[in-house]
This record gives sequence, C-alpha cells and structure tokens, in this order.
Amino acid sequence: MLAASNIGGSVWVLGRARAARPFASEAMTEELFRDDGYLRSCEATVREVRPEGIVLDRTVFYYESGGQPGDSGRLARADGASIGIADTKRDKATGAILHVPQAGAATLAPGDKVLAEIDWERRHRHMRMHTCLHLLCAVVPGQVTGGQIAADKGRLDFAVDAAALDKAHIEAELNRLVREDHPVTPTWITDDELNGKPDLVRTMSVKPPTGMGKVRLLDISGVDLQPCGGTHVRRTGEIGPVVVAKIENKGKQNRRVVVQFA
Ligand SMILES: [Zn+2]
Repeated sequence: MLAASNIGGSVWVLGRARAARPFASEAMTEELFRDDGYLRSCEATVREVRPEGIVLDRTVFYYESGGQPGDSGRLARADGASIGIADTKRDKATGAILHVPQAGAATLAPGDKVLAEIDWERRHRHMRMHTCLHLLCAVVPGQVTGGQIAADKGRLDFAVDAAALDKAHIEAELNRLVREDHPVTPTWITDDELNGKPDLVRTMSVKPPTGMGKVRLLDISGVDLQPCGGTHVRRTGEIGPVVVAKIENKGKQNRRVVVQFA
C-alpha cells in the first residue's frame, strides 16, 4: 500500500492477527477496529491493569502503529465513573494493547465491565488523512521511506528526485481522486500471491510478514492497492478537499510531501 507498508507497519500486525498470532491467543485483545473502522464504542471486560496501561478483552481503540496515532477516548464503568484514555499503544514484548489512562483517572480492576468509547472526531480525521496518504502514494512515484498521520495533516517521504515532484500537480491529482469518490475496500491476499507481486509493497524499510498465510490489503479501486492494517474511510470523497502544504528536501533522493485538510 502506500504508505501501506509504512503506514502499514500495522498491516503486518493485522496479517498476523488473522492468521497465526505470535502470542498466546487467550491473552490477545480482539481488535474490533480491524473489521470495522467506524465502530465508536464496544462493551468490554478489563483483563489486566498494568502500570503502563489497561488491557481489555476486546477494543475499538486503534493502537499507535504504522504512522497512525493511537486513539484517545474513555472507559466508562457500570457505576458511572469514566476513565479518560490519553493514548493507545501496543507492548511489543507481549503484544498487549495498552489503553493509557489520563493522569489521575479513576481506577479499574480485572473483571470490571466497561463501555470503551473512542474520541470519534479525532479518529475520523486520522481515517480521512490515512486514506488520503494512499492517494498520495498513487500520485507520487518512488518508494515510500516513511510516513506520519495527525488529525490535521499527514506526510509521506519518498525516495525520488526533486524534479519528479510538482506541488500544484500533486494537489490537483489528490483532489481529483477525492472528487471521483472511489470505493475503499479491505481485502486479503495469500503469501504466495503477495510474493508474486513485489510491486505491491511500496515501502523500502518494511517487508510484509509472510509465513502467516495471508496479509490484509487496502484496495482503492483502480487507484492504489497495498498491504495495510490501518483504519480508512469507505470512499475517497469522505476525505474532503486537501492541500499540499509543502515539499521538503530530507536528504539525497528523499522528499517529504506534507498534506493538510483544506
Ligand atoms: Zn492504509
């Protein structure tokens, strides 16, 4: 994917999650956001309370990965107390998804039932910008070497000569693809199929974790297709108008394209 790969660091995680998890399955959190990025809340049970965060049995909170920030939101207890969640991260050692509480938040205990709810306005902006970066990947030639998403802007770094990049052209093409309102659909590919299509992987620094059976792809019909496990909007029209804020020189053969919502 475009950034898929890179933004898709998460993608790989996804592929693993569906095929063969690298960690004990009973300890894993069900990742509801993978199948439906529009889920804003879910009922869940507290599994663990660690110093660094709260582990649930299932969640709608996307954890920071692949350039997309972790979600913020709240966990509401049955007695009405609400625990603010400042960020969501994944513990690389154990694979646990950690809901990081705000300082001074009420406490939870294993077994507590909660309603887990994300800050939807913020997440939806991440979804719009993430999808926009897939479009950027389709418009700009060259390998993706890095990327980052925020609620108001996003950027991708490309291994490309500066002469190949025209700010006005990129902006016009992005907005054309937004206006054309292409469907955005997750799909799956087997390891063998992916190995036969190395051009699907746009990121130089990250290789898809084959060996797990299959990998998730993000398909923007006729525009972009690449591995990605992030959250996206359903149609490109939902992104809305964008501007190319700047193109920066980040070293020899490395150009950073920064996009903002108009
Ligand atoms: Zn993506």
